[in-house]
Amino acid sequence: MEKMEDVVVIGGGPAGAASALWLHQLGLRVMLLEAGPAVGGLQLRSPYSNVWIPGLLGKSGQEVAGLLQEQLRAASVPHIPGFRVTSFRRVDASTAWEVSNGSRTFRARYVVIATGSKPRSAGFVESDCVAIGPGISMERVSVEGRRVAILGGGDNAFDQAGSVLRRGAASVDIYCRRRPSAQPLLQRLVPARHVHVGPFDADQTHMTVNGIPYDVLGVQFGFDACIPGGLEVPLRAGCIDVDQHGAIPSLPRIYAAGEVTNYWHPCVTTSFAHGIQVAKSIQLNLLAEAAESASEIAQEAVVEC
Ligand SMILES: Cc1cc2nc3c(=O)[nH]c(=O)nc-3n(C[C@H](O)[C@H](O)[C@H](O)COP(=O)(O)OP(=O)(O)OC[C@H]3O[C@@H](n4cnc5c(N)ncnc54)[C@H](O)[C@@H]3O)c2cc1C
Repeated sequence: MEKMEDVVVIGGGPAGAASALWLHQLGLRVMLLEAGPAVGGLQLRSPYSNVWIPGLLGKSGQEVAGLLQEQLRAASVPHIPGFRVTSFRRVDASTAWEVSNGSRTFRARYVVIATGSKPRSAGFVESDCVAIGPGISMERVSVEGRRVAILGGGDNAFDQAGSVLRRGAASVDIYCRRRPSAQPLLQRLVPARHVHVGPFDADQTHMTVNGIPYDVLGVQFGFDACIPGGLEVPLRAGCIDVDQHGAIPSLPRIYAAGEVTNYWHPCVTTSFAHGIQVAKSIQLNLLAEAAESASEIAQEAVVEC
């Protein structure tokens, strides 16, 4: 068993990294646990140059992840990559939680869940001709001169279809069960005759959709929040339901931040902000608890006198 931390942060994407950085710089004992090989979260999947994150124009998602790694190292924020939290247990309602990967356990007064989300696979398996989710999964598949089918009708489906056409695909068809929900700007990237709305049957083994053969399938069915096991958390629309401080009112001393929550529009900037808000809320709670116990000690001293 490790020493007691003030806070364990689970997940090293933008939300968890921002939270851990602030908690550490606010003088608290923090440990950041990341399942993947490096900090950065979904930004590690993005080779694209960003136009959305204020102040980081032109940096790719992977570069943004690299900057986060560099900043955590420079500030000496304790963090462990390759640590997937698999269980979560309340030791004592008022004092501690235990978080473990099965072989190593951390105990902390507060826990921040910042486990983000992952692309839905819907039973498909990534291969050299099947991509799941946007970004590097699509980019590593060769599309030049090939027939591509994209499954899904949201922003990512149309955005990735546009990217596949720019990369020289012979054709791209979009299959979506309902009317596409992508922004009109993105829908214009694909000619209407290549957008098929209604039930469809996609078969990875034979690489067909509704019996039509394709060279590449791109599965773009959106994302699911990653909820760590061992804990009953309240959900809203599949995400952890938090209050305006990032707290989960039914679970004392547990907070959640970023894309795993229902709170804000998911992007890097809101994830940073949410992680920071949670860090400040926890610091204020700890200060209030310290003040309360100091006043209890002072009262006991007065009684003894
Ligand atoms: C291809 C692509 C391009 C994008 N481009 C942009 C852009 O240009 N601008 C922008 O603002 N946003 C962009 N986004 C969205 C942005 O990356 C996300 O909104 C943001 O990363 C969410 O941050 P997060 O920290 O909440 O979650 P994530 O980034 O999902 O991080 C969660 C982390 O938790 C870890 N984790 C999960 N479960 C566990 C566990 N049990 N134990 C330990 N660790 C765990 C995961 O490994 C992951 O590292 C893009 C996303 C993609 C996929």
